[in-house]
Amino acid sequence: MGESFERFDCLVVGAGIAGITAARKMVAAGFSVCLLDKSRGLGGRFATRRIEGQSFDHGAQFFTSRGKVFSAEVQNWVEAGIARPWFGKPGDERFCGVGGMNQLAKELSAGLDVRRGQKVEWVRFSHGVWSVRSNQGAFQGYRLLLTNPAPQAIGLLETSEVGYCKEFIGTLRLIEYEKCISLMLLLGSELGLSEYGIIQFEVEEPISTITETSVKGITDLPGIVIQSGPEFAEKNFAASSNTVFKRLTDALPISVNLEVKGMSVQKWRFAKRKNHALECFFNQNESNFLWHSGDGYNAPRIEGAFLSGERVAESIISSLSMNHIPNSQRPGKR
Ligand SMILES: Cc1cc2nc3c(=O)[nH]c(=O)nc-3n(C[C@H](O)[C@H](O)[C@H](O)COP(=O)(O)OP(=O)(O)OC[C@H]3O[C@@H](n4cnc5c(N)ncnc54)[C@H](O)[C@@H]3O)c2cc1C
Repeated sequence: MGESFERFDCLVVGAGIAGITAARKMVAAGFSVCLLDKSRGLGGRFATRRIEGQSFDHGAQFFTSRGKVFSAEVQNWVEAGIARPWFGKPGDERFCGVGGMNQLAKELSAGLDVRRGQKVEWVRFSHGVWSVRSNQGAFQGYRLLLTNPAPQAIGLLETSEVGYCKEFIGTLRLIEYEKCISLMLLLGSELGLSEYGIIQFEVEEPISTITETSVKGITDLPGIVIQSGPEFAEKNFAASSNTVFKRLTDALPISVNLEVKGMSVQKWRFAKRKNHALECFFNQNESNFLWHSGDGYNAPRIEGAFLSGERVAESIISSLSMNHIPNSQRPGKR
């Protein structure tokens, strides 16, 4: 091949909350880790987009913390000033990132080796090492962690023709997602929809949530994010932005006069996971050194992805510690 591969203890595909959490833990344990993400930014579905300088969260709007581990972590984020309670009664708060959800992801990934714009297109395991090629580079890792949504991870393994991953792929096929379309509108005036700037509909078709961004506190100017239900997204996934705009604004269950100053549409093919019973993460056996984690496991939300990242890191750390790799064979950073 003639390529030179940068080598690490662990390569992580995907710098969403699961990948970042896992990488933080592995780096803290002293291992060299490189995160590869296909997008220009990082954070995955911790996503914020700018319209005329104003920030719009267009993936997850907020997160809850139900279990002890994540609650303690969220408390650390609040104390560090990178997350804050948004609404909800004490003990059942909804939290968001200060300055936008994506800003929180950036803060959490500070100090990590994150390579952006690296779409991983090929992986191969040979002689105890995973080799990975992206659209821009070549990397090697003694362990490989995939944190992209399961259908994307399956696509990668199938394209790479990693034959012995058939059982691995079989398990990943149990993880399915619903689509979502987010419509972001910069407005001329505030709508004053609700006290905290969010309406969540119990019947989530065609609209599941409306967020008023200036009331949420992430834009100076008025704006809203309308997020569709999965059925609407399925039917309108191929529709133009203008059609999505018309159909979602026509469906607004409240009478409002929208003075639109700017618009953007994001279509999420893998937005929210459907139910299943898989726990924590997946590693078919200890000898192929391949793991999959993310919101495909645990609860289908940010807390689930975080916990999956924590648990998979423990598994990889234990695997790396058992199969000690001499420092001389570790060209990557430590
Ligand atoms: C519209 C929407 C609303 C939501 N609302 C909520 C909510 O209110 N509360 C809540 O808790 N959760 C919510 N969620 C779900 C939550 O955002 C996710 O559960 C969580 O962010 C998933 O994190 P992750 O790390 O598992 O995956 P992701 O964040 O998807 O990260 C995976 C990363 O892999 C990268 N990637 C994929 N393929 C490749 C490749 N071949 N090479 C390199 N990189 C690759 C992607 O670019 C991405 O950055 C929402 C999601 C969406 C989309």
